[in-house]
Amino acid sequence: MKILVINSGSSSIKYQLFDMDKEIVMAKGGIQRIGIDNSFLKHETYEGKETRIDRDIPDHAAGIKLLIDVLLDEEYGVISDIDEIDAVGHRVLHGGEKFTESVIINDEVEKTIEEYCDLGPLHNPHNLTGIRVCKKLLPGKPQVAVFDTSFHTTMPPKAYLYALPYEYYEKYKVKRYGFHGTSHRYVSRRCAQLMNRPYEELKIISCHLGNGASIAAVANGKCVDTSMGLTPLEGLVMGTRCGDIDPAIIKFIMEKEGISIEEMDKIMNKKSGLLGISGISNDSRDVSEAAKNGNKRAQLALELFDYRVVKYIGAYVAAMGGVDAIVFTAGIGENQWETRENIIEQLGFLGIKLDKEANKVRGEEKEISTPDSTVKVFVIPTNEELMIARDTMALIS
Ligand code: ADP
Repeated sequence: MKILVINSGSSSIKYQLFDMDKEIVMAKGGIQRIGIDNSFLKHETYEGKETRIDRDIPDHAAGIKLLIDVLLDEEYGVISDIDEIDAVGHRVLHGGEKFTESVIINDEVEKTIEEYCDLGPLHNPHNLTGIRVCKKLLPGKPQVAVFDTSFHTTMPPKAYLYALPYEYYEKYKVKRYGFHGTSHRYVSRRCAQLMNRPYEELKIISCHLGNGASIAAVANGKCVDTSMGLTPLEGLVMGTRCGDIDPAIIKFIMEKEGISIEEMDKIMNKKSGLLGISGISNDSRDVSEAAKNGNKRAQLALELFDYRVVKYIGAYVAAMGGVDAIVFTAGIGENQWETRENIIEQLGFLGIKLDKEANKVRGEEKEISTPDSTVKVFVIPTNEELMIARDTMALIS
């Protein structure tokens, strides 16, 4: 069975074609700058054949048409007939309260995803465009939606409610939704496999540390709390997002600076975090480089980042009444061993011991705690696309 996984953003589309019989990626690629100048597609096959097509890609329909053409291409393609694609799995950001798991897309599902555009205004409309285009280009093929929020729908009210007047939850569904759910689900399940223990018996803290970053507490196979909230702004210090702040700061700065709510929103989402503190970059590699060269604000930015992760891990250990394993994933979690070392060292009081040599791994699945550590620590590269392909296959089978 062959499944195409699509992640459709505002000006980009990422894709992977899976052969699910072998669970391998036959081809993958991405389209950038849709609707802007210099748009292009980059494509790579399982055998390592690569190509780049620079071409005007005015909209998502043209983009998806182009990626299908490349999949069928004589030289760079991996299928000879479009009918070989059995189904399409779509990454959808916001599934609100309704979508507690992945679903086959029908008219009603499409309508509900559209209704949730106000909760995920930067993503849901573009996810929906991807779905609609695929429906047209691959008529009759099942389309499946896999939501970033679904994994978190098991949180209890004490974790998802904000202590605001209850009517805002009733009227507008203002609550903690959480994101990166597909990633937290993949790595926490994989962690149980690596431990050779039942997922339903473990307490796992999953740290997805990328440009966007979130942490999830997974007890007995269910998410019980997560750091992102109504939007991805809450929680950890991120590349450009501030994460947790005193909500009163918003009014204070707006009055002092005489700025609008839109400008304030942009400051918190695009100009804060590692970038805001360091004044250098949102990319942790640049910030680390500057910190190593003695830049004080870069050092401070990294300290804040790590400290916030440590605080959340402490909070989630308390929330779950213990922890069996901590997992690091995503760009920073998989690659920045200094960050992992600094975080785990601060958790020594829990009896967690890091194997410093093993921890020097980058982008590889590995246990990085010592055998006598009370809590196991793993690096597990995330694979949201595989999770989407697996869900799609399970639903259509
Ligand atoms: P997102 O998917 O949220 O855009 P990623 O998971 O790709 O983000 O993570 C981006 C972050 O990961 C950046 O801060 C970057 O510096 C860091 N990162 C990615 N690859 C590496 C690497 N090989 N070594 C060190 N840091 C890396």
